[in-house]
Amino acid sequence: MADEDEVRTQESVRELSSVAGETAVVTGGSSGIGRAVAETFVADGADVVICSRTRDDVETVAEELNAADVPGSVLPVECDVTDRDSVAALAEATVEEFGGVDLLVNNAGGAGSGGPLHEVESDGWDGVIDVNLTGVYTVTTAFSEALREDGGAVVNTASMAGRYGVAGMGPYSAAKAGVSALTRTLADEWAADDVRVNAVEPGFVATPPVREKLGLDEVPERAGADRRVGRPEEIADAIRFLASDAASFVTGQTIAPTGPPNTFEPPEV
Ligand code: NAD
Repeated sequence: MADEDEVRTQESVRELSSVAGETAVVTGGSSGIGRAVAETFVADGADVVICSRTRDDVETVAEELNAADVPGSVLPVECDVTDRDSVAALAEATVEEFGGVDLLVNNAGGAGSGGPLHEVESDGWDGVIDVNLTGVYTVTTAFSEALREDGGAVVNTASMAGRYGVAGMGPYSAAKAGVSALTRTLADEWAADDVRVNAVEPGFVATPPVREKLGLDEVPERAGADRRVGRPEEIADAIRFLASDAASFVTGQTIAPTGPPNTFEPPEV
């Protein structure tokens, strides 16, 4: 963690925004934003545990990232954030391998199938709330002891949908609003333990599910008349900043990387 008396030159801020030497857990690290976070963290020199529900996916990504010439390492763990036993095993595996954890990125999630709220079946509601909101609670509490032992940082992937509420995405909007509220709550509760808790609320980002919905190619295109779709790495950069010592005086905040213009008009999906 940063020395409070340090004078921050441009050079030192660049150094402070690195997560080198940290142990990080990134849920949903096999795809999209989570994969980009894992990639930027290992490039800095962090040891990163990535988890997702599918063993093959998470192992393939770990192999790819470990094969690159990077100073950090990736440990793949199969884990479903909606399953408490599976999450407990993730926490156990992390502590066993690295002796603790410094950074937790609660990123696993997804919008679900969508539709007007009055047509959403209770199963659909439960599924979206379970992965996006309850999953954050389950993972965060499983790592609570390890994080609070020596201090650290949590970054949650919320959404602009949670800030504004998006028609056709009721359960998802509610879940992500809950994640932003939990972020502020936990920041207060863990302040004395030296654990900072922040969130990102991205706009549309060209990850596999969004590209599929919008019919986008690999290269991000415009989603609306004058709106750019973000790249996963652009969200990962915001997450890296919040996780790093460059944000040592930032907690309980949400950053909304949405790209210009600075308004939220979701494209037709
Ligand atoms: P993605 O589908 O590319 O990645 C989602 C990841 O979460 C995958 O690795 C998947 O395996 C994992 N995951 C899903 N359910 C899981 C579960 N139950 N247990 C463990 N892992 C699980 O999607 P993405 O767009 O990169 O989404 C990442 C996060 O960003 C999500 O929380 C999403 O809601 C949020 N988000 C995305 C956008 C966007 O436009 N792409 C915008 C705002 C917020």
